[in-house]
Amino acid sequence: MKAKTAVLIKDHTAEVHERELGEIGDHQVLVKLDTCNLCTTDYQQWMGLREKQGYPMAGGHENSGIVTAAGKDVKNIVVGDRVAFGYIFCGDCPACRAGNTFECTNIDFDAVSPDGYKGDMGIATYKLADAKYTIKVSNQLEPAQAGFVEPLGTVIHGIKKLHIQPQEDVVVVGAGTMGLLNALTARAYGARVIVSELTEKKLKRAESMGFETIHAKETEPADAVFDLTKGKGADIVIGAVGATKAYDQCLQMLREHRGKFLVFAAGYPEPELHISPNDIHYRQIQIIGTMGGGIGDFEEAAKLLSNGTIDVSGCLEGITIGLKDIQKAFEAASAPDAYRVTVDCQDV
Ligand SMILES: [Zn+2]
Ligand SMILES: [Zn+2]
Repeated sequence: MKAKTAVLIKDHTAEVHERELGEIGDHQVLVKLDTCNLCTTDYQQWMGLREKQGYPMAGGHENSGIVTAAGKDVKNIVVGDRVAFGYIFCGDCPACRAGNTFECTNIDFDAVSPDGYKGDMGIATYKLADAKYTIKVSNQLEPAQAGFVEPLGTVIHGIKKLHIQPQEDVVVVGAGTMGLLNALTARAYGARVIVSELTEKKLKRAESMGFETIHAKETEPADAVFDLTKGKGADIVIGAVGATKAYDQCLQMLREHRGKFLVFAAGYPEPELHISPNDIHYRQIQIIGTMGGGIGDFEEAAKLLSNGTIDVSGCLEGITIGLKDIQKAFEAASAPDAYRVTVDCQDV
């Protein structure tokens, strides 16, 4: 079984290579991929910003397709199912047994395939995957939206740590793809959600999705939050921009006591966090880190996408480009302020 796969061979250079997938294993499924959305990790490497990820990089993980064959021991998926993917895990190590499958100690996420490629090989015509981390979604779900199982799963992983209550005011700082996913999820968990953002395009997008917004260029975001919450401040702030100034704003808008700050984004160069330990003590502030997601988070993401509780159509740029034009797809994904750009994996 051969598959055509997008491969970064150096910065600003993506090619389509043909790879031999090999025989399907007893625990594996063969998936004919419809689409793959280009994640920040994908297009920033194309831009030359993540050289440490290595080459040749056959990346792409925000994808979805239909199962065309299943190994004899596969029980959770049948041929014809629409699927997306979580992260690979062993299921046997202490981290996996504790439910933290993304902290699996038996998987080398930087592994190189026998034919010399790095990455998830997900911008491709076909993919062979362990059924264990293959996630069933509704067959009615649009492929590009099904591709959000992974990013939405990572958001759900963070949101669960916040124990959101319906009467709480949640502020999301940053309305990029991950900021909007956090906003959608916090709203689905019952909170009032306010989005703070600098750029016009993203503000408009957040407004069109029904969120209250703060124009962070025209107003002081913390002042706006105190106005909107009648002087109380935010119960919860989710930082979806990895920058010192954004982190300063996040901390300034927290309510006086027991506010929670979720550090969702990393930033390069590394941002600073300006907070006094005495403030953390006296004001009982909780600073919560989050990263990745477990198999249960991806299953939850699949359910919320499949039943329409979370509609991620607003997180798509609305551009679909064939695998045969993979260079153009990376160019479009790298444009400033672009939401997710979609690759049509069968147009090759
Ligand atoms: Zn991703
Ligand atoms: Zn494990």
